[in-house]
Amino acid sequence: MSELTNVRNMVVSCTNCELYKSRTHAVPGIGNEKSDIVFVGEAPGRNEDLQGKPFVGTAGQILSEALEYAGFSRDEVYITNVVKCRPPNNRQPQVEERSSCKPYLSKELEIIKPKIICILGNTAYNSLLDGSAITKNRGKVIKNNDKLYFVTIHPAAVIYNPSLRQVLKNDFVFLAGVLDKLRKGMNVEYSQ
Ligand code: SF4
Repeated sequence: MSELTNVRNMVVSCTNCELYKSRTHAVPGIGNEKSDIVFVGEAPGRNEDLQGKPFVGTAGQILSEALEYAGFSRDEVYITNVVKCRPPNNRQPQVEERSSCKPYLSKELEIIKPKIICILGNTAYNSLLDGSAITKNRGKVIKNNDKLYFVTIHPAAVIYNPSLRQVLKNDFVFLAGVLDKLRKGMNVEYSQ
């Protein structure tokens, strides 16, 4: 059994926070276990909760479209969330829920060891880099504790503001360029 399958099994039976009571399915990460890049969102929504897979609803379609635009396929990357169970009515996950769930994300990242982690939206930004609003760092590469991060919007933001669709696509094109450089062992510019 792979290490990620172990994590997956722990997630689907987890009762470490109150969210287990209202979930249909816990939603572990999915994708290529050897991916050079991991995308991290906030938490599952209704469709994800029903199917037990991340980013399968409208936001997931927007994510897939932006990934394809930038030359990524969903199969080659790994996609996960900070919190693995759906908060009721899609409210933001609370601080204690995020802390209870964070070890699973840390484990996923420790096993996969991606060259770069793409942060999707404020909740992931706050959980991974302790940032408060992504506006200042959106579209930038940040180095923290020897890990590289790229910060962009959550695909769900496009649902409420369609003009952000191209912003997300352009960010992913830039990110694909950064990843290409990292794969070639070249230096990339980053903030600390
Ligand atoms: S959200 Fe995370 S910590 Fe809470 S029950 Fe689900 S898997 Fe466990």
